[in-house]
Amino acid sequence: MSDNGFPVPANEDKRLQVLADYNIMDSLPEQAYDDFAKLASAICGTPIALITLLDDHRQWFKANVGLGVSETPRSQAFCAHAIMDPGEVMTVEDATADQRFAANPLVTGDPGIRFYAGAPLVAPTGEALGTICVIDREPRHLSDTQREALEILSREIIVQLELRRSIATLEQAVLDQERYVELLQEYQRDIEKVRVHLESQSVTDVLTGLKNRRSFDLTVEEEFMRAQSRRTTLSLLMIDVDRFKSFNDDFGHPAGDEVLRSVAHLLQSELRASDSLFRYGGEEFAVVLPETTCKGAFVLAERFRRAVQRAPWPKRAITISIGVAATGAESASPRDLLQSADQALYSAKQTGRNRVTMTPSGA
Ligand code: GH3
Ligand code: MG
Ligand code: MG
Repeated sequence: MSDNGFPVPANEDKRLQVLADYNIMDSLPEQAYDDFAKLASAICGTPIALITLLDDHRQWFKANVGLGVSETPRSQAFCAHAIMDPGEVMTVEDATADQRFAANPLVTGDPGIRFYAGAPLVAPTGEALGTICVIDREPRHLSDTQREALEILSREIIVQLELRRSIATLEQAVLDQERYVELLQEYQRDIEKVRVHLESQSVTDVLTGLKNRRSFDLTVEEEFMRAQSRRTTLSLLMIDVDRFKSFNDDFGHPAGDEVLRSVAHLLQSELRASDSLFRYGGEEFAVVLPETTCKGAFVLAERFRRAVQRAPWPKRAITISIGVAATGAESASPRDLLQSADQALYSAKQTGRNRVTMTPSGA
């Protein structure tokens, strides 16, 4: 008997833990449990039938036939005694004649218990969590069949509790999985953002390994300002592969890619240390030549043109056209310089390709 006036099982801590794991205390009524209580009441012919669960200080009714309250203190609970022997149905035929219960307020007052029979609800691990019990206001005797029925019901209630817990676990697993999927999608969005950001920050062309258009724009801007402040000449070459569309058409895009890589490599090998080569886009390349006059740039451009023309191309001859421009009175901005080089390139194409042309004003 504890200080609180009720007996406490030896495995009480574990018992309370197991009960808590079922997460059933103070849950809403459920049909299955109500049905079990009704069945117990009908089989035993009692006005009251309960499914009770005992936590550390009270007995709470998961199902309740014929009793107006939802819980009582554990000190008044007949079930507190019933769970002391998990293997037995506890029967009290007349509570007034039982010294454990004669003074119990549930006997002396409402609901006036005389007869009690409770089958412990025993968890698979052996802890008695509460009972299914039947109660009458008259003294009675419990038949063997009724006792057996209560035992069967107590086992079915445990099955129901296990089922309930499994469903809760499954529901949680589904929620967890949904959360994981959401998290994964979030990560993917983040990765995509980073990828887009990195791409925008990238300065390398993937196909040729040369510096890309973005890098070109930055370099021209920078070198243009440097040339102005140092009063030196900045030259620019715009290089375009001749009749490249038809090459692709005849030999396929992958073979075209191979040509672009080879052209890049050839140009790179002819480059001076101070110059920078870029893949401007498509089959176009650009060279930025600091401290180089238009004439010097022209000479270098010729070297590029010849190198490509003389290379042993496996499919068919490849040539390039080059437009040369240099900073001067007409190039007030990098954009002007670029336009001049473009015009020169256009003129190289117009006059037959495989040639280098300077803008007239830049000469
Ligand atoms: P032009 O002598 O006037 O320059 O003729 P073109 O055929 O070279 O000029 P056009 O601008 O009509 O065609 C350029 C072609 O370059 C079209 C496109 O399919 C090809 N091209 C652009 N980028 C790539 C690339 O990365 N790989 C491959 N294989 N082809 C590319
Ligand atoms: Mg082109
Ligand atoms: Mg071309």
